[in-house]
Amino acid sequence: MKPCAFQLYTPSTLEDALEALWELTEEGRSVKVLAGGQSLIPVLNMRLATPDVLIDLNELDSDLNFISPDTNHIKIGALTRHYQLETSPLISKNVPIITEAERLIGHVAIRSRGTLGGSLAHADPSAELPLVASLLNARMTLQSKHATRTIPAAEFFLAYLMTSMEPTEILTEITIPTLPGRSGQSIQEFALRHGDFAIAVAGAQVTMDEDGCISDARLTLGGVGGTPLDMSASLAPLVGSRPLPEDIERLMKEICQDLEPDGDIHADSAYRKDLAITLSTRALVDGLQKVKDS
Ligand SMILES: Cc1cc2nc3c(=O)[nH]c(=O)nc-3n(C[C@H](O)[C@H](O)[C@H](O)COP(=O)(O)OP(=O)(O)OC[C@H]3O[C@@H](n4cnc5c(N)ncnc54)[C@H](O)[C@@H]3O)c2cc1C
Repeated sequence: MKPCAFQLYTPSTLEDALEALWELTEEGRSVKVLAGGQSLIPVLNMRLATPDVLIDLNELDSDLNFISPDTNHIKIGALTRHYQLETSPLISKNVPIITEAERLIGHVAIRSRGTLGGSLAHADPSAELPLVASLLNARMTLQSKHATRTIPAAEFFLAYLMTSMEPTEILTEITIPTLPGRSGQSIQEFALRHGDFAIAVAGAQVTMDEDGCISDARLTLGGVGGTPLDMSASLAPLVGSRPLPEDIERLMKEICQDLEPDGDIHADSAYRKDLAITLSTRALVDGLQKVKDS
């Protein structure tokens, strides 16, 4: 199928894009911003969305495409492409889970166009980058013509394909904490074929103290709810211990038993729950191993 007719705006500055988004929305037009188009264009072609206007962000590289280090954080522009994150030495050194996650996303052609901002704004609960943003509690900067606000990932993802962005806002920058000392990160997923969206995915970050005991552990699950699910509060029994893989698996069986994932044509609810146990165990064990190896 082909998309419905739409008007196309191609602003050359962020200011112009925000101005156009504000004015058109005020006029009651339905507007979508276009980044890499890897999710939006299929949605338009299938006529699941029929916006009056598209505002193309692709001329805004100088405003929105950057990876810049800060104290304990990395700031990333929303228009930064998947392949740029995948191949950035700064990212692999400071937030290695992003490098791992990028290798699991689609194929080279998709990663060469798709963007971090588009992936987060699309808010697919099986997607890798929303999971990583939730795991690390990344902060999203949202700009409109009249205001800028920064919110944590926990307040950004609301439901399946739904975020707390206003129609007049553009996601401009994502601030991600860097890997703390004596820490390891891991992302583990199951997809039917390499490059497909995951059926379920788990991300973990584990920190050890000087005695080799866990001092902090974080876990987020994707594909088992409408948003990435932060399970970190349930990991308290691991803190202060040196768990074996079987101890971690026992805890994962306990904490995943209340999950109620929806089933679909790819996997029923019980299978997704089983995957959540296996993948979260693998992610935590792998995260721990990386600290020991470092
Ligand atoms: C065959 C195929 C396989 C794929 N496999 C995977 C996979 O395994 N894992 C995965 O995570 N993704 C996968 N994707 C999706 C890919 O990662 C997309 O790049 C991503 O989901 C959307 O990014 P985009 O830049 O292309 O956004 P677009 O498609 O341009 O936009 C997506 C949505 O976000 C909005 N948007 C975009 N940028 C902004 C912004 N800065 N501010 C506000 N709103 C914005 C748009 O209006 C639209 O609603 C796949 C895509 C395809 C076609």
